[in-house]
Amino acid sequence: MNAMDQGKIRCYKCHVPMDVVRMDYEARGVIVKDAEGLRCPQCGLEAFTSPQARALEKIIYSLAPPIRLTRKISSAAGKKPVVYLPAELLEAVGARIGDKMELCVAGPGRILMELASAEDVVVNASDFPSKKPALRTIAPA
Ligand SMILES: [Zn+2]
Repeated sequence: MNAMDQGKIRCYKCHVPMDVVRMDYEARGVIVKDAEGLRCPQCGLEAFTSPQARALEKIIYSLAPPIRLTRKISSAAGKKPVVYLPAELLEAVGARIGDKMELCVAGPGRILMELASAEDVVVNASDFPSKKPALRTIAPA
């Protein structure tokens, strides 16, 4: 290992230092072009560091209104499980009664629901410069 490779993240398969590269990232219907990530020069494995992943999540969340609600699974006639969807939520994604929704398991404890007609959104990572937290000026008392 040469001095340049010290501190670099290593591929968990090949144990060689991974290169910092630009690549596309896709999650929840958003494709972020030219995002910073890591690639193993030997096996091609692609990964993101935690800060890189957080920056990508920020981009994805910035494209939709930040609505988060809690609803209980209840049962209607027929004893089938029902989750009431508030109009605010449907409006935010442009869904209407009668629209088809696709549901899938998105991970442990997670169900993802999307409009069947939803199309992927493509953005460039460079359009979302990472911002340092703004300093707040506190007025003297
Ligand atoms: Zn590798």
